[in-house]
Amino acid sequence: MILSSFRAHQFRNIGDCELFFTPGVNLLIGENAQGKTNVLEGIYLFARGKSFRGGAERELTKFGTDGFSLGITFRDERREQALTYSFEGGSRRREKNGAPVRLGEMLGVFRAVLFYPEHLQIVKGAPEKRREFLNVAVAGVEPAYLGLYTKYAKILENRNALLKQASKGLPVDREELVAWSESLALAATDVYLRRRAYLLGFTPRAEEQMSAISDEKETLLLTLEADTDKETPEAVADDYRACFLSHLERECAAGCTLFGPHRDDIGILLSGLDARVYASQGQQRSIVLALKLAEGEYNREKTGDYPVFLLDDVLSELDASRRAYLLGAGGERQLIVTSCEETMCGAAENIIRVSGGNYVSAYR
Ligand code: ATP
Ligand code: MG
Repeated sequence: MILSSFRAHQFRNIGDCELFFTPGVNLLIGENAQGKTNVLEGIYLFARGKSFRGGAERELTKFGTDGFSLGITFRDERREQALTYSFEGGSRRREKNGAPVRLGEMLGVFRAVLFYPEHLQIVKGAPEKRREFLNVAVAGVEPAYLGLYTKYAKILENRNALLKQASKGLPVDREELVAWSESLALAATDVYLRRRAYLLGFTPRAEEQMSAISDEKETLLLTLEADTDKETPEAVADDYRACFLSHLERECAAGCTLFGPHRDDIGILLSGLDARVYASQGQQRSIVLALKLAEGEYNREKTGDYPVFLLDDVLSELDASRRAYLLGAGGERQLIVTSCEETMCGAAENIIRVSGGNYVSAYR
């Protein structure tokens, strides 16, 4: 998948812009606070349906204006497509090839993998960061996963409400709690099996990428740390059922559900050591990069072509050989990379200079 163009109107610090991209490496270069990340945020909004910085639409709207609009054109193996997203007069509108679409119809149409400096938290941050990575990656190849996860989260919320009541000493209908436990076990099974299947295909790709980035100096091993290690839906559901029902007293005292996919973690072993504890800054960056490149590889295996790689400030802290590997990874893949460093220009097919929300392109 190749992003051909991006245009923005009254988005963040951008008045109006239209940018064109080439296959291979595209570099957005400029000093701090000029509007590099804003472009990636606008592009990625089409892949995720929302801002990766968590910005609400009012926040995304350029100061002093009352709405914004964005558009992309891109092509996969078969055709050229266009998506637009606008927020005007308090209402949002999405269009695919000129026809209005709902969020669910937009997700999965344009596929992108994002590296954002906050993603370094995937290695050493709370398990929540690793779960979020996994959720986004799984949804990238199977958009229906988001619906399954939302369903699980809703059932969890209902069960937690009852457990909270119990923890306060208020009366709780035990049969109702058992019924929610059963629904939760089934929903947990759906989430677990998709995560497991994803990791089975993804892990070898991540190991390969880590080995390539580190010039075969480092090995990476990923494991899903869950409350079950079974493979069949029946056996997995049995494990969750047993967890939920045999610890009811403890959960009533805690006031929340202590088991299930919302507590899963991903174990990360780097050359035999727990990276969550021991990885250096550069190693953290390399691991996250390996995960993101592997996400792209696996996405291609499942969908037929590469997603677009959006890499925000990925180059700092990487040594020369790791940088060379990353930028050389262009080839069939399209990379859109931001940097403050002039020295990066040599590796790019297309350079876009960014200054105060203005963009000047220089094809090479
Ligand atoms: P860095 O190299 O520091 O990461 P950057 O070029 O990636 O910088 P951006 O994050 O794209 O910078 O932000 C550019 C500017 O956009 C910032 O100064 C920010 O304050 C400004 N900005 C953010 N939201 C809005 C908005 N709604 N209206 C106007 N300007 C905004
Ligand atoms: Mg930035």
